Amino acid sequence: MIKPHLLSYTSEEIASLLSDLKQPKFRAKQLVDWIFIKRAASWEEMRNIPKELRAQLSDKYTLRGLTPGEHKISADGLTEKWLFETEDQHGVEAVLIRDKKLSRRTVCISSSLGCRLGCVFCASAQGPFIRDLTAGEMVEEVAQVEALSGEGATNVVFMGTGEPFLNYDEVLLAARRINAADGFGIGARHITISTVGVIPGIELFAAEPEDFRLAVSLHAPNQAAREKIVPAAKKWELGRLLSVLRRYTRATRREVTFEYILIDGFNAHPNDAILLAENLSGIPCKINCIPYNPIPGSEWRPPEARTCREFVAILEDRGLRATLRAEKGSDISAACGQLRAYRLLKNSQEAKRHNDKGKK
Ligand code: SF4
Repeated sequence: MIKPHLLSYTSEEIASLLSDLKQPKFRAKQLVDWIFIKRAASWEEMRNIPKELRAQLSDKYTLRGLTPGEHKISADGLTEKWLFETEDQHGVEAVLIRDKKLSRRTVCISSSLGCRLGCVFCASAQGPFIRDLTAGEMVEEVAQVEALSGEGATNVVFMGTGEPFLNYDEVLLAARRINAADGFGIGARHITISTVGVIPGIELFAAEPEDFRLAVSLHAPNQAAREKIVPAAKKWELGRLLSVLRRYTRATRREVTFEYILIDGFNAHPNDAILLAENLSGIPCKINCIPYNPIPGSEWRPPEARTCREFVAILEDRGLRATLRAEKGSDISAACGQLRAYRLLKNSQEAKRHNDKGKK
């Protein structure tokens, strides 16, 4: 049983829970200060809160529920990845990605343990779906990465394991706590939610008052190819997705970021770029093209660098804003769900070795 997580509470909710415990009003300010300003990671640190109250609170609420485990740093030192263990002993990962000037520090967080959607290029799809993360656990991913790296996040992206729009309420609550002035204070324009194209989620998101950003993982220029790589595209088909995104950009006056993984011999032909450009015309957007970072057991490979550059050039020639991004931290398995997938793979190989020994 997972206890309510205090990182998902607003100042008013903390004041209300303390008033239920018959505490004086000033305690709320003290507690909010410890949780969100000083970022206390343990109850013991809260020296001006009476011991009995700390014991009462720790019985009912979680302050930190993630235990840091495996940690990797990319060769260029710009990308770091942590695997955390949840209170119910599952792995969840978060990544810190710095730009070269070290002025932009993006924390990429997961929204569930495993993923329901099974995209074939994705490491997160290799293990079973276990459960959605709570808003508090997602906010804690940011808190833990900041504490472990000693650096404040400038941006947060919901782009790790999980489809955020299948955990809509908790993801929005987490984004609001990360954004709130009495939370982590990161501007809404610096918080991006990335979907593989869950149309009902995009429609709800269009009506949210905050200026959060939307990214869509497209990865294919037409319905047939998209269905092969993103099984959820059968339900939320490309034509309808693009119409909903046209409406979204008109209603919100915000552009959409498209993510497009370039896979050799599958979606990186010049004709694919031409079709993609036709499909996206009229949608205010930018397109991030990312050479594929192979996952364990996959036969797919990234295209040659020249092919990737040509793909981007075709999009640009047609008036689209496109960039070719190196997969950040590919040497530390930083792509979506990879560290967790390697752990699952290692565990299953160890279990197999153990069983084989038992049979001998
Ligand atoms: S790409 Fe996203 S939606 Fe698809 S399996 Fe991976 S985590 Fe899930």
